[in-house]
Amino acid sequence: MIEDCEVVVVGGGPAGSSAALVLGRCRRKVTVFDSGVYRNARSRAVHGYLTRDGESPAELRRLSRAELARYDSVSVRSETVAEIAASDPDAFIVRTSQGTQIRCRMLLLATGLIDRLPSVPGAADLLGDRIFVCPYCDGWELRDEPLAVYDRQGRYAALIAQWSRDTIVCTDGPPEIEPDLQRRLAELELRVESRLIAGFEAKEQGVSIVFREGPAIHRRAIFVNGECPPQSDFARKLGCRLDDKGGVEVGRDGSTSVSGVYVAGDASRDALQAIVAAGEGAVAAVAINEALSR
Ligand SMILES: Cc1cc2nc3c(=O)[nH]c(=O)nc-3n(C[C@H](O)[C@H](O)[C@H](O)COP(=O)(O)OP(=O)(O)OC[C@H]3O[C@@H](n4cnc5c(N)ncnc54)[C@H](O)[C@@H]3O)c2cc1C
Repeated sequence: MIEDCEVVVVGGGPAGSSAALVLGRCRRKVTVFDSGVYRNARSRAVHGYLTRDGESPAELRRLSRAELARYDSVSVRSETVAEIAASDPDAFIVRTSQGTQIRCRMLLLATGLIDRLPSVPGAADLLGDRIFVCPYCDGWELRDEPLAVYDRQGRYAALIAQWSRDTIVCTDGPPEIEPDLQRRLAELELRVESRLIAGFEAKEQGVSIVFREGPAIHRRAIFVNGECPPQSDFARKLGCRLDDKGGVEVGRDGSTSVSGVYVAGDASRDALQAIVAAGEGAVAAVAINEALSR
């Protein structure tokens, strides 16, 4: 059986949930599919979210779900979207791994990103606790603490130094730092450590960087500048135009080159923060509602 609704939102993080709230308030029939893989699942607190600064990600989700539950045209399902196909006229068929099939007129992809950490033993286990990816999210709590940056090119290190000048740049092999940046790091008096890393280990309140040779270094936390590929590639498969970095080309209202397909949140690759994702979800929801009204 194929169900019908006006909008399917794929992703129940800040972007998708915020979009569903706005669309619910517009009395739109919305289904949110959420596979439960949140980017900040390992994090203890969401920082920089006005009125919720320091709230745990799980509590923020609980509050979001409780607010969505007030709107009877919004349904949130813990299902994983497996396939989306364009279907005439002006409709999409969304299929989940759990067997649901829904036809909708508009699609919001709020599927977020995944953090690809350096392949150093211990990195994944310590994410969100002693290893961090974003100074805007966690820099304040670590201000003036002894830090390290895992960064072969040195660009990230110059940024992190804004929060703590006691920062060591670990390049895990020969540095690839441009001469201008080398001068900048020297001005900032940041030490560059190029020994090969064997692993990261939790120790006391911080983390030890264990090298293949020589003594370990102990730091309060490490920032890593890993890659963040999209968690899903539905937009590409639906034929949305990509930008020169391989991300989806997204308009200010979340629209893509494919009519009826919108993208919001981290997946749109704007500033990667929860409040930005929520704002983008709301903007896309208004655009979707107005497109449906037309
Ligand atoms: C360690 C860490 C700490 C962070 N700390 C902060 C912080 O302090 N402050 C801050 O503002 N930001 C922080 N962030 C960033 C923040 O988590 C993201 O900016 C935010 O979660 C983006 O929201 P989103 O809705 O775009 O994506 P996400 O929160 O990643 O949500 C994506 C959603 O898509 C769903 N999904 C994906 N594919 C499918 C599919 N096929 N079917 C169904 N559902 C699917 C997932 O289950 C999930 O619900 C942190 C990130 C990390 C990694």
